[in-house]
Amino acid sequence: LTEKLQNVFKKLRSKGRLTEEDVKIALKEVKMALLEADVNFKVVKQFTKSVQERAVGQDVMNGLNPGQMVIKIVNDELVSLMGSETTELPIKPGNDMTVIMMAGLQGAGKTTTAAKLAGKLKAKGKRPLLVACDVYRPAAITQLQVNGEKQGVEVFSMGDKQKPVDIAKAAIGHAKEHQQNVVIIDTAGRLHIDENMMQELADIKENVQVDATVLVVDAMTGQDAVNVAKTFTDKVGIDGVILTKMDGDTRGGAALSIKAVTGKPILYVGMGEKLTDLEQFYPDRMASRILGMGDVMSLIEKVEASVDQEQAQEMSKKLKKMDFDFNDYLTSLDQMNKMGGIGSILNMLPGMGAKMKDIEGMIDESAMNRTKSIILSMTIQERSNPGILNVSRKNRIAKGAGVDISEVNRLVKQFEQSKKMMKQMPGMMGGKKGGKRGG
Ligand code: GDP
Ligand code: MG
Repeated sequence: LTEKLQNVFKKLRSKGRLTEEDVKIALKEVKMALLEADVNFKVVKQFTKSVQERAVGQDVMNGLNPGQMVIKIVNDELVSLMGSETTELPIKPGNDMTVIMMAGLQGAGKTTTAAKLAGKLKAKGKRPLLVACDVYRPAAITQLQVNGEKQGVEVFSMGDKQKPVDIAKAAIGHAKEHQQNVVIIDTAGRLHIDENMMQELADIKENVQVDATVLVVDAMTGQDAVNVAKTFTDKVGIDGVILTKMDGDTRGGAALSIKAVTGKPILYVGMGEKLTDLEQFYPDRMASRILGMGDVMSLIEKVEASVDQEQAQEMSKKLKKMDFDFNDYLTSLDQMNKMGGIGSILNMLPGMGAKMKDIEGMIDESAMNRTKSIILSMTIQERSNPGILNVSRKNRIAKGAGVDISEVNRLVKQFEQSKKMMKQMPGMMGGKKGGKRGG
């Protein structure tokens, strides 16, 4: 983020909510950043517009100025747009055959990536077969053979005199005969979008049962990535994308453009010419690379962590005073969910050491939702004063939560136990014997 922007926002610092003006100013910078990252301008326009609508009126987190808050929202949006989690190729289990077809322009990295994929699948215990369907460049067949040999994967080829669709058909017969269970078809690209190329791919798809068509795109493609992705999607149909050459200095805006246009998941990224250089795609990493605002992002992370830390401190104070009740328990369950388990929450508290494992063992995270529903069935009074829980109250709660009364009993007992345990914790709870600072 530029200094100019920082200055603009200094004036606006103590506002509670994002105004339209705040968002507009910040999004101007974001737009520039995205265009610099080579995100297609139409995608940029659409994206910033939707963020604009969503961001106005949102609360500004403590410790951030409005500009930084907008960046945080932008970043979160980018991550969710590119898929919040990683997606895998739909490889069938056991010996069922999966057919994958590589598609993309010439030089995108299809042949290399086909061999990389074959290696990955082989390492997972699959029996892949690489198929040479690029009949236009004799060197392409040799290239696949060389790469296949390096990976210890058989390459099926019929030279350059047959039609690609016939080679693909024959290859599948060959794979069946030899118990190979993943067939990866390498196809011919062209320098530009080309009717013949599309027709060839469509032919293969019509005559062979292709389970996944993978579009391979050079991350350096930039603005043009949208057209490429759109044409392949419309004319051939794709199931996923692999973005190559991400080891270069491109910011990877193509990833966003492609995702926006195709809606298909990005499966892997190519990180080099070596056959092992194929990595999982992480939307969050890609988002911060595209946004290119590392300094703002690390500030935001710090602020987020300190918010969590504040909450953890608050909890610790309550524990110390021993007025920790079921309401707090409920809050802490939600927090744990958000923060990735009780381990991470306790890690933030000072003085937690050897006892960590005991506590983690006591709270079965898979049972957390049942626990939650039990607490939710308690009255406010019962939550803040568990002492009043007699048999008839417990019975009512059990019914409300749809569990056996024994589970309610167990929870109450567990709750009292963890309270006791917290009390005994050296240093942290500062009980009668305590007082020493741990950590
Ligand atoms: P195809 O025409 O689509 O089959 O593309 P190729 O597989 O022949 O790749 C074209 C060039 O890009 C080759 O020189 C590859 O070594 C190179 N290449 C492919 N993937 C990557 C990658 O992830 N990083 C880098 N740096 N080079 C790559
Ligand atoms: Mg090739």
